[in-house]
Amino acid sequence: MANMSLKKNEMPVQAPDVRNKNFEEVALGYTKETALDEASRCLNCKKPMCIEGCPVGINIPGFIEKIRQEDFEGAYDVISISSSLPAVCGRVCPQEKQCESRCVRGVKGDPVGIGRLERFVADLHNAGKSANTSVKEPTGKKVAIVGSGPSGLTCAGDLAKKGYRVTVFEALHTAGGVLVYGIPEFRLPKAIVKGEIEGLKSLGVKFETNVVIGKSITVDELFDKGFEAVFIGSGAGLPRFMNIPGENLKGVYSANEFLTRINLMKAYREVNDTPVMRAKKVAVVGGGNVAMDACRCAKRLGAEEVYIVYRRSLDELPARKEEVEHAMEEGIIFKLLNNPVEILGDDTKSVCGMKCIEMELGEPDASGRRSPVEKAGSEFVLDVDCVIMAIGTSPNPLIKSTTEGLEINKKGGIVVNEDGLTSRDHVYAGGDAVTGAATVILAMGAGKTAAAAIDAELSK
Ligand SMILES: Cc1cc2nc3c(=O)[nH]c(=O)nc-3n(C[C@H](O)[C@H](O)[C@H](O)COP(=O)(O)OP(=O)(O)OC[C@H]3O[C@@H](n4cnc5c(N)ncnc54)[C@H](O)[C@@H]3O)c2cc1C
Repeated sequence: MANMSLKKNEMPVQAPDVRNKNFEEVALGYTKETALDEASRCLNCKKPMCIEGCPVGINIPGFIEKIRQEDFEGAYDVISISSSLPAVCGRVCPQEKQCESRCVRGVKGDPVGIGRLERFVADLHNAGKSANTSVKEPTGKKVAIVGSGPSGLTCAGDLAKKGYRVTVFEALHTAGGVLVYGIPEFRLPKAIVKGEIEGLKSLGVKFETNVVIGKSITVDELFDKGFEAVFIGSGAGLPRFMNIPGENLKGVYSANEFLTRINLMKAYREVNDTPVMRAKKVAVVGGGNVAMDACRCAKRLGAEEVYIVYRRSLDELPARKEEVEHAMEEGIIFKLLNNPVEILGDDTKSVCGMKCIEMELGEPDASGRRSPVEKAGSEFVLDVDCVIMAIGTSPNPLIKSTTEGLEINKKGGIVVNEDGLTSRDHVYAGGDAVTGAATVILAMGAGKTAAAAIDAELSK
């Protein structure tokens, strides 16, 4: 008998005025009882629209049914058919725009808490994990993966299970991509990513960190070393700026740099001596997940006032709904319908304010969102001493410029066919390097598609 409650089971969280001073995980996860109660809200629809809403097509009613039967490992197995990082996706996927947006329970009331259930199943599995994943007979063939974000890790895992000798080359000193250098500990504990990487190592995947493909070694040289296919999952880590006056002042960061210092280089810990500015008044420009992570980190570093400056309204904010709600609860001030026009500096060339202009929404633009238009004469100065730009990123041009014959689109993304094959034979690509900044699950899906195509090609 289905539980017809209109409300989703709440997820326990750290209190806002406690958590905005620490970097521990905010959301604490369902207990078994809450998970069973939430699972019983699923109607197990004949035509489950939630599956269509999931970019990798997880059998959602299937795994929820297993939860209902208290077969939690069975639930994990169902998810694992389509997703290789469920503990990550359960935490960071924008479910409200994907699976949950299609849930029939959402028509009248809250949709089923699919993401929360996914996280519950994955955490339970990881807590008792044994390395018993089956690996096929070795093929003797070597595949190189460029980048250790979700696309690269997924591609590596799938190929290792099929018996390939896989080496992941990562430019940074730690593997994990945005999952470790971008998304903060309080949203995605690094131990979870580390666990996934250890799992890959136990499948035989080798990791070579501090190797920049295109500088330390090129894609073509990888083939000379005996790799028979290369997957490029190098992400979109090149920050964009607004090109307004003052962006070179001291106290202006790209969100990527700010977050990398804090997350990957642990600037928030007393024992680490990574420098990062602990400003009193911080403006974060942008409205996506990156902006939410940056503002919440700034608050946790001790800033008294932290602003989100976003040129559209709340309805257009692209960040996950939960992150926006959490940021508001933590005391972040949302300056919506405002846009920076200049960053102001003092005699020491440090930030001492940001001139903004008010905006209003006009006609929809190519993205379908109403385009922001400046309100003449509405300029004002926001009193801040640090500005963090979180207005988007693009793929880094390094690999393109060092790989002969690699076709690139106007936005810098690598051009691929539906199998992830690039314009070069045996060179595949996926994730943000292809699409530009997108989501974890899409990157993972691309890694999976390419792994299947590489296997098909190398098995010929
Ligand atoms: C702060 C932040 C928060 C986000 N929050 C969310 C969220 O809540 N939900 C969500 O779904 N998505 C979120 N995203 C987006 C998501 O993380 C990305 O879409 C996803 O990580 C892309 O995966 P990827 O494998 O393509 O690349 P990445 O994760 O970017 O990994 C690429 C890796 O390649 C390495 N690399 C780059 N060039 C080279 C080279 N030449 N040689 C060797 N290695 C190289 C990089 O160092 C990096 O480790 C967020 C992104 C950021 C930055």
